[in-house]
Amino acid sequence: MALWGKDIARTKYVGNVYVDQLNRIKKESGALHRIAQKCENCNNNDYYSIYETFRVFRIMSIPLIQCDISYYFSCPECNFGFKLEVEEFKKLEQIALINSKYMEGKITRSEFESGLRDI
Ligand SMILES: [Zn+2]
Repeated sequence: MALWGKDIARTKYVGNVYVDQLNRIKKESGALHRIAQKCENCNNNDYYSIYETFRVFRIMSIPLIQCDISYYFSCPECNFGFKLEVEEFKKLEQIALINSKYMEGKITRSEFESGLRDI
């Protein structure tokens, strides 16, 4: 019997990081220097969207391995973006998760602000 495998790509939306948050991190820590203050293509965005992509190898609809994880960010206005290094993603992910929690009403304004300060 032959085994039929399928190699599937998945994209997971992580969240948004606003340009003023990005600029604060850049100023304070000197990190994230590869990412322009505003989209270097259209200069017209208020935030960047952060994504995680990976491949899942499935055999007979059973997901077996998750591999080739990579991270991206993109401009919501023009879709310009590039692949992030893991350290860049880790920082942006923290901000994006705090933003999402705050938007969904899961944390208060002061928890939101102190969460951002701790990054
Ligand atoms: Zn853009």
